[in-house]
Amino acid sequence: MTEASKTIYVDLDDVLCQAARHFLMIVEREFGKKIAYEQLTDFDVGHACGLAAAERDELYRIVHRPEELLSMAPVDGAIAGLKQWEQQGFDVAIVTGRPPQSTEVSLAWLAKHRISHGSFTIVDKYSRFTAGNAMTLADLATHRFCWAVEDSLPMAEYLAEQMKLPVALIDRPWNQDSKQQIGIRRYRDWQAIAAGDLTRTVNRPFEESDL
Ligand SMILES: [Mg+2]
Repeated sequence: MTEASKTIYVDLDDVLCQAARHFLMIVEREFGKKIAYEQLTDFDVGHACGLAAAERDELYRIVHRPEELLSMAPVDGAIAGLKQWEQQGFDVAIVTGRPPQSTEVSLAWLAKHRISHGSFTIVDKYSRFTAGNAMTLADLATHRFCWAVEDSLPMAEYLAEQMKLPVALIDRPWNQDSKQQIGIRRYRDWQAIAAGDLTRTVNRPFEESDL
């Protein structure tokens, strides 16, 4: 039997970093539209805010500026949660779908908040990138993790279905879904994630873990 992985997959935006709330601040500042967080029922913030195509392009240009990415706040409880796992001997692999050119500023953000991690990987989660610096989903599937924390429903489904990985899905307005999915367990916030006994969570057989 192969040794079980002790590496936890952790997404960056809206798992560790408050990207959506920062997007909304920019939408108000730049386009004069005040949208409530709860109204973000579409994973595409530009769509959820009713922006025109040109405005959406402008929004994504602005949000990916280094000073914007660097000024995003951490998600409440995330840093403490990661620290707890580190003390329990788990390794954190940060796996983000941000554009490859945001690597440097993303690492600077992690350093700014003293978020220790074993690795940082950019994966083309949503088939958005044309340049080759991001890992493909197929390559990601060759990596072994014991658990994953995501806010994206399509990505959570990929991890659970294709990689047979138990997933903690952080409850967000854009990932609401009424159907129960094998392998995916919904958590209200980081406090709820960190309150669980991780050793039991990751060692349960996949099929029984989240029915
Ligand atoms: Mg995310």
